[in-house]
Amino acid sequence: MTTRTDDLLGRIQPTEGGREIFDPATGELVGRAPQASVEDLNDAVARAKTAQPGWAARSNDQRRSLLHAAADAVEAHAEELAQLLSREQGKPLNGPNARFEVGACSAWLRATAEFSLEPEVLVDDTSGRATLHWRPLGVVGAIGPWNWPMMISVWQIAPSLRQGNTVVIKPSGYTPLSVLALVEVLNTVLPENVLIPVPGRGHVGEALSRHPDIDKIMFTGSTATGKSIIKAAADTVKRLTMELGGNDAGIVLADADPKAIAEDLFWGAFINTGQTCAALKRLYVPESIYDQVCSALVEVAEKMPMGPGLDEANVLGPLQNEAQWQIVDRLVTAARDSGARILTGGDPDHSRSGHFYPTTLVADIDPQNPLVVEEQFGPALPIVKYSTVDQAIEWANSLNEGLGSSVWSSDLDRAEEVASQLVAGTTWINKHGAVDPRMPFGGARESGFGLEFGVEGLKEVSQPHIISR
Ligand code: NDP
Repeated sequence: MTTRTDDLLGRIQPTEGGREIFDPATGELVGRAPQASVEDLNDAVARAKTAQPGWAARSNDQRRSLLHAAADAVEAHAEELAQLLSREQGKPLNGPNARFEVGACSAWLRATAEFSLEPEVLVDDTSGRATLHWRPLGVVGAIGPWNWPMMISVWQIAPSLRQGNTVVIKPSGYTPLSVLALVEVLNTVLPENVLIPVPGRGHVGEALSRHPDIDKIMFTGSTATGKSIIKAAADTVKRLTMELGGNDAGIVLADADPKAIAEDLFWGAFINTGQTCAALKRLYVPESIYDQVCSALVEVAEKMPMGPGLDEANVLGPLQNEAQWQIVDRLVTAARDSGARILTGGDPDHSRSGHFYPTTLVADIDPQNPLVVEEQFGPALPIVKYSTVDQAIEWANSLNEGLGSSVWSSDLDRAEEVASQLVAGTTWINKHGAVDPRMPFGGARESGFGLEFGVEGLKEVSQPHIISR
């Protein structure tokens, strides 16, 4: 198929060889990704290190305007980027998916451009004067996942560049073309060697995590890989931001209006076909409105079309890869075998090409069932019945993860009171996963540490330096 991505692909593919990347919806060849070796990585880090002082020496205004110019470039190529993302990742163009993700890239570039971290006067009296300055760290290594490959790359790149660091970025081996295309577009306006991609598999990420000239790793991905990176980074005492797996709970309170919240609940769980770190992954609903919430969710779920991403009608797509499809299928099968009730979905069509798993809602499920306590990262939501709010809070807080969570109620004060008892980086009220560049985002417990976004996000890629006289 000829699409508007061909020009961009032509600029990022190797002239020969490379790893073939296939569309998870159709199995068609999307393109070939270059494969960086560890020697290529070393060369990239050396170039980024050499370029960093010149980048840091630019004024804040210059870096701010270059980030806005980068956003302009993304906007000028928005449709090509969205089509390539859709073909490689699988997410549809429409709904909160590919076009939305590309839009988020420019929005985060612009928002990050406008944050600023000014020096602070800490002491100024007869004892002396002390000031706090935020210096760049040096070279930031960015390692990202396959679910929101472009947007998460921008979350790592934009604050790092804003603060005067240079960046070496390793995309996920599942979605390298999307990140290479994004970097290609950003580099039409950025100076040379300020942002360098190193497409390769996990061993390249590991070498980046160990590299003595990498000053900080920003990582988004699984908790297991996050733990490996923490160990690999220990010998050089690297700064780390770890955005790891989540298993977000949502608690519906008895005064919520099931029909009014159903669509937002649905998208909280099924955004990007459930492949989102801070998606709603387990829902707790009181007995008194359990049946109404279940039927309102089924009604919404059954009218959301799923299919190949380039078809404008679809708002849900395939799982990005076969391994993730197997995880979802195993968990739904375990739920069904335990006696839980499948309200919709749960019965994949094995004759269909592509990694499609139907939109699945599971009711009357035990709170300890694997579909509840393990991260499914796909389109299958368990709905657990509770009798007291304290019980729901206890279940919500009982896992090792703590990325996001949500409370759903018509009484906002009561909802805040329940929210205050949840262990999570963010608790949303009457919405879920609504990240915003002005609000710091990060995890509790094994969902990671360090904050992204806002001024707090700039601090994470800066070295505090106090001058005291
Ligand atoms: P991983 O954590 O394995 O991969 C994330 C990134 O880390 C990829 O770029 C990967 O490279 C790289 N990587 C792999 N091994 C190492 C290593 N030893 N050192 C440094 N970098 C490494 O996630 P997956 O993509 O395999 O997904 C697995 C699970 O993680 C999912 O099923 C889901 O549960 C969770 N996940 C969570 C996300 C989130 O946003 N919190 C996002 C994606 C997944 P490569 O893939 O090329 O080997």
